[in-house]
Amino acid sequence: MPRTLITGGAGFLGSHLCDRLVADGHEVICVDNFLTGSRNNIAHLLGHARFTLIEHDITRPITIDGPLDYLLHFASPASPIDYLRLPIQTLKVGALGTHVALGLTKHKDACILLASTSEIYGDPTQHPQNERYWGNVNPVGLRGVYDEAKRFAEAMTMAYHRYHGVRTRIARIFNTFGPRMRMEDGRALPTFMRQALTHEPITVYGSGRQTRSFAYVDDTVEGIVRLLLSDVTQPVNIGSRDEITIIDFAREIIALTGSASTIECHPLPEDDPKNRQPDTTLAKQLLDWEPAISRREGLKRTLVYVKQALCAER
Ligand code: NAD
Ligand code: UDP
Repeated sequence: MPRTLITGGAGFLGSHLCDRLVADGHEVICVDNFLTGSRNNIAHLLGHARFTLIEHDITRPITIDGPLDYLLHFASPASPIDYLRLPIQTLKVGALGTHVALGLTKHKDACILLASTSEIYGDPTQHPQNERYWGNVNPVGLRGVYDEAKRFAEAMTMAYHRYHGVRTRIARIFNTFGPRMRMEDGRALPTFMRQALTHEPITVYGSGRQTRSFAYVDDTVEGIVRLLLSDVTQPVNIGSRDEITIIDFAREIIALTGSASTIECHPLPEDDPKNRQPDTTLAKQLLDWEPAISRREGLKRTLVYVKQALCAER
């Protein structure tokens, strides 16, 4: 039975990975300090014989008893409002946290998968973005704390691979959505769904002509697990190619919810990327992976969760 540690396992993506790996027969150790995650996300796993929770800040050293086969490093604030209000923690978990995770992986002779991000491409000048593109990041801009932390994390991961021979995987994850996103995390999808369901104006930033490509969480998790179990060391984009402007995304959510909401334009945040779409040729070639769930189907599934989350708030 593989023994697998997930940092950030109580977060949105991390908790879905805990579910998936427990279901696949792994013994899962979730390490989280609940900075942006929630106990609710893993409450259903707490009594499971193959699940353990360790409340710990991964920027500090950690000792784990027994062997480890895999480590997935997912701890990091991930939504723009989170990393803007937590700039130092974001830099620390990307830098010191990645160092601790790599050191533990080396000590246990395990294999590590780093949750990197499309944000390492910054405001891209190449479209779509393939893994050979080096990006266009403003290191001193507000978003730099996240982008540069992840770029450092990738560099550190490759150094451990080249210098220490550690088995490493780097997933460049693009925008992912689904159940367990925090309703107040400020990302487009939970914000738009909440606004649509309460018939408040939808807050579109800028002209809304900027684009994103949204993948459903089950597809992203499948891509990550395939990469983890592969022997691919180079970074691989994991995301949907189905690109949409933010204003059309808002309209899609209004239509899906049958909402009376109007669209209200607000200033575009600093360094907000204008376009984003992954080139997923490598993931297809090396992992035989591509998303299987359409945005429409994913939105319908997420809407069920969002309605429940809003009811629970009242
Ligand atoms: P999230 O905020 O829901 O989860 C992050 C988790 O990390 C939380 O549970 C938080 O409490 C934990 N954490 C933060 N700092 C920690 C620390 N120092 N020690 C221990 N735990 C800590 O975010 P998410 O959307 O699930 O993202 C998870 C990972 O995936 C992040 O690394 C993020 O950069 C990456 N990612 C996510 C997306 C996406 O669309 N959701 C896209 C690209 C990359
Ligand atoms: N966005 C928006 N209104 C909101 C929240 C986000 O128009 O209330 C825009 C945001 O400016 C960006 C896009 O939606 O252009 C996606 O934002 P999100 O925070 O979901 O992800 P990221 O910017 O990290 O891709």
